[in-house]
Formats: sequence, C-alpha cells, structure tokens
Amino acid sequence: MGHFSFPYLYNYVKFVLGIEDKNGKLYKLCNDEVKNCLICGKYNEGRIGFHPRKSIFAEYPMKHIAFDVLSMGKTSKEGSVGILILIDTFTRYVWLYT
Ligand SMILES: [Zn+2]
Repeated sequence: MGHFSFPYLYNYVKFVLGIEDKNGKLYKLCNDEVKNCLICGKYNEGRIGFHPRKSIFAEYPMKHIAFDVLSMGKTSKEGSVGILILIDTFTRYVWLYT
C-alpha cells in the first residue's frame, strides 16, 4: 500500500485530519515517515540512481568491446564448456573462442 509524498501527507494530516502542528513536530514526523519508508527506498529511484538507456557509440575500432558467454550445456572432447563471443562495436568484427 502506498502513501502520499511528504507535502501532501503533511497537508492531509494538518488540514484534512485537523491535527495541529505544535513546534514543528508534525512536520518532522511526516518528513521522517516518508524519508524512512523501506518500500519507497527499495522501489523508487532517486535522481542519482536513474540511468536512462542510451546507445553505445564507439569513435574508433577497439574503443568498445561487447562480450557474452554461451554455455553449450556439455563439455566438448577438447574440454570446452562454452563459447566466448567478443564484438568490436565500431567495426562489428566478431571473435569466437571456445
Ligand atoms: Zn513509502
């Protein structure tokens, strides 16, 4: 279950529920409640944690190499268990190693 953001929560408690804010205690209580919410901290991304997707751009060969490992599920006669795939994102040249 969600909750209001800090200013809405504060105003809701203060004006809708009619609870008086004595010495700023209500303000601090609402602020602490929203700040320390474990669910919000777990699922809401702050500005620092937001990394939008963007294209990878390499200005010259070998500047950026993409790689992946493919598991074959079996061991070959030579003892290989998978394939290492390397791709130069500038030239699209591909290397395959077992
Ligand atoms: Zn929350």
